[in-house]
Amino acid sequence: MRARVVILGCGFGGLWAARALAKAPAEVIVVDRTNHHLFTPLLYQVATAGLSAPAIAAPIRHILANQRNTTVLLGDAKDIRVKEKQVELDHGARLSYDYLIVATGSAHSYFGNDAWAPYAPGLKTLDDAFEIRSRILLAFERAEREADAAKRAAWLTFVVVGAGATGVELAGTLAEIARHTLRGEFRRFDPRNARIVLVEGSERVLPPYPADLSEKARRQLERLGVTVWLGRRVTGVDADGVTLGAERLSAKTVIWAAGVASSPLGRSLGAPLDRAGRVKVEPDLSVPGYPEIFVAGDLAALEGVPGIAPAAKQMGRHAALNLMRTLSGKPRVPFRYRDYGQLATIGRNAAVAYFGRLKLSGYPAWVVWLVAHIYFLIGFRNRLMVMLDWGWAYWTFDRYARIVTKSSRS
Ligand SMILES: Cc1cc2nc3c(=O)[nH]c(=O)nc-3n(C[C@H](O)[C@H](O)[C@H](O)COP(=O)(O)OP(=O)(O)OC[C@H]3O[C@@H](n4cnc5c(N)ncnc54)[C@H](O)[C@@H]3O)c2cc1C
Repeated sequence: MRARVVILGCGFGGLWAARALAKAPAEVIVVDRTNHHLFTPLLYQVATAGLSAPAIAAPIRHILANQRNTTVLLGDAKDIRVKEKQVELDHGARLSYDYLIVATGSAHSYFGNDAWAPYAPGLKTLDDAFEIRSRILLAFERAEREADAAKRAAWLTFVVVGAGATGVELAGTLAEIARHTLRGEFRRFDPRNARIVLVEGSERVLPPYPADLSEKARRQLERLGVTVWLGRRVTGVDADGVTLGAERLSAKTVIWAAGVASSPLGRSLGAPLDRAGRVKVEPDLSVPGYPEIFVAGDLAALEGVPGIAPAAKQMGRHAALNLMRTLSGKPRVPFRYRDYGQLATIGRNAAVAYFGRLKLSGYPAWVVWLVAHIYFLIGFRNRLMVMLDWGWAYWTFDRYARIVTKSSRS
């Protein structure tokens, strides 16, 4: 009888594992709580009205349609019963496995202050992106209706908490929207006066980057009109703004780009976890004591491996490779991360990148970022759509995905 491999999560780790198992003599079942694989590096573009959802997401069922040994199930994994080799899904359904690859990624963490969540949405899913987009666009609408100057200023103040790649991208794009996209569209205020404040607890933006690139990124952000506050921690968030120690900043729109917590599913494996809740895996990516379970992507803690998409893809592929080696009676091999460098965009013609010792910033980094992101998108149609949208936006400063309804979902 063929072994049954269940893959939980079809993000970068899960999808790359599933693809690597295309020819495996096994029944593969891919479970995800959404029906789509999401290209997270461009999610901020949906949150800032630059791209629509279908441009950066594709139905999992469609991506894996030609993989005959693979079944796709829409389901939310609630628990893993390691002793019984079963996964508990929503509505009480159970799914047995011979091998399990857990790649359910991460969520945002408010560092124990979950009460801030309604006032400061984070960006992880398409639903988050729709929520943020609608808050940003509606803040400008409310400002046009507001007669009181202080209240209007609060509607026109946008705070982004956390200056990692997502925070930097959001802040830079927000500045561009205020300075360029909305120019001339309002009568009672000038959108260029909107204030974009990027707050970071450490002493530099993009903390994992080399210090000189962090400094260049900060300067590029300020040139775009972003106010960068470094070494300052947010101590409170409510409906009217943020508190930073003794200081208060009135702002009606706050976006959380600060903390990352691992998928809670990691806890049900009974394995040792690190401080962020990631599963401390063996060198072959299996769970200590459970060689039939692998963990890949953001949920796996392995020394020197960052929580980024290329690492998740490499881990997903490697877990599948080790699984196939086991099926054919071969010994497993340890995972080795290949670092191809990192890229972060800040805005038009502004980005930073490093590949080993090669460091780029400004226009050259931006061009590399652009080409890489189009190249890595899933699906020819998506690549074409994004190229067309970006080409149009580059010349016109326009952002086409600005339609907001009560349940904006596209
Ligand atoms: C806004 C944003 C921007 C980013 N930008 C970049 C970038 O520019 N470059 C880069 O390299 N990395 C970037 N990252 C990081 C990158 O997205 C992650 O490192 C990568 O997605 C991790 O892959 P993963 O497979 O572990 O998790 P994910 O890709 O997050 O996939 C997890 C999957 O599991 C599913 N899932 C979760 N819980 C359950 C459950 N209980 N049951 C069923 N399904 C479940 C989810 O729906 C999802 O499809 C970014 C992340 C974010 C949020």
